Amino acid sequence: MARYTDASCRQCRRIGEKLFLKGDRCYSQKCGVERRKRPPGEPSRRRPRSSDWAVQLREKQKARFTYGVLERQFRKYFEEARDTKGVTGDLLLSTLEQRLDNVVYRLSFADSRKQGRQLVNHGHFNVNGRRVNIPSYLIKVGDVITWNRVDGDTVPEFVQALTDGLPKRPVPSWLQLEPSDLKGEVLSIPDASENDSGVDVRLIVEFYSK
Ligand code: SF4
Repeated sequence: MARYTDASCRQCRRIGEKLFLKGDRCYSQKCGVERRKRPPGEPSRRRPRSSDWAVQLREKQKARFTYGVLERQFRKYFEEARDTKGVTGDLLLSTLEQRLDNVVYRLSFADSRKQGRQLVNHGHFNVNGRRVNIPSYLIKVGDVITWNRVDGDTVPEFVQALTDGLPKRPVPSWLQLEPSDLKGEVLSIPDASENDSGVDVRLIVEFYSK
């Protein structure tokens, strides 16, 4: 399966802001953006790119890096959003939020989307009782997400460590977390107005509309 191999911190430095791709480390002094302000590999005298196109490209890359999506898949999401009735940018954001790796992160079952992706890949989650190991799986209203191999009081040690003190961050209103049962339910389709990723989807729509 294709995936990003570029170090997460390099992606943040390339964009020029914190994208919170590494969980707890992002809130510490070890954060790559805090320690090295300059983009990776950039000579000190390079002129900053500030054309409209460069700004739009940066926003698109920011969204891709934040959600860990490759260009081809991202473009497919955009085209589907564009061909659907509604506001293209909002539909795009909603689709990104519906990915299972993101939902696992939003439910606080993982410290980052990257970790969520890894956990899903390794088959640690069920959707409606069936194991799903595809991070790009898009959840639907009514879906119930549970940990695989967690049955009643039987909770593997690593799951206990990951889920200790749930929720670790605010859970969006379109999800319902039941910490005692280690499960989450999808109450509605993600609403773009609640999105906290800081992505300006208007710029992404402009980028692809050229
Ligand atoms: Fe980005 Fe987190 Fe690395 Fe900081 S620690 S540069 S926020 S991935």
